[in-house]
Amino acid sequence: MAQQPKQAAPCPICGKPAKAAYEPFCSKRCADVDLHRWMNDAYAIAGEPVDEESLSSLSGETGWGTAKH
Ligand SMILES: [Zn+2]
Repeated sequence: MAQQPKQAAPCPICGKPAKAAYEPFCSKRCADVDLHRWMNDAYAIAGEPVDEESLSSLSGETGWGTAKH
């Protein structure tokens, strides 16, 4: 058996071999993707979801359709 270098773990985002500079990802792009996913998860837990009801009540307060001629 030939000696094998330490096998780089595949990028968790796209599955390509990871690069040391971006470990455990293969590129900055994939690292950013993972970061955004993580942040979105954090927001989903910490922040309140914006539901359609609150959106429609907001637009109702702006007086859409009440303009006079
Ligand atoms: Zn990748």
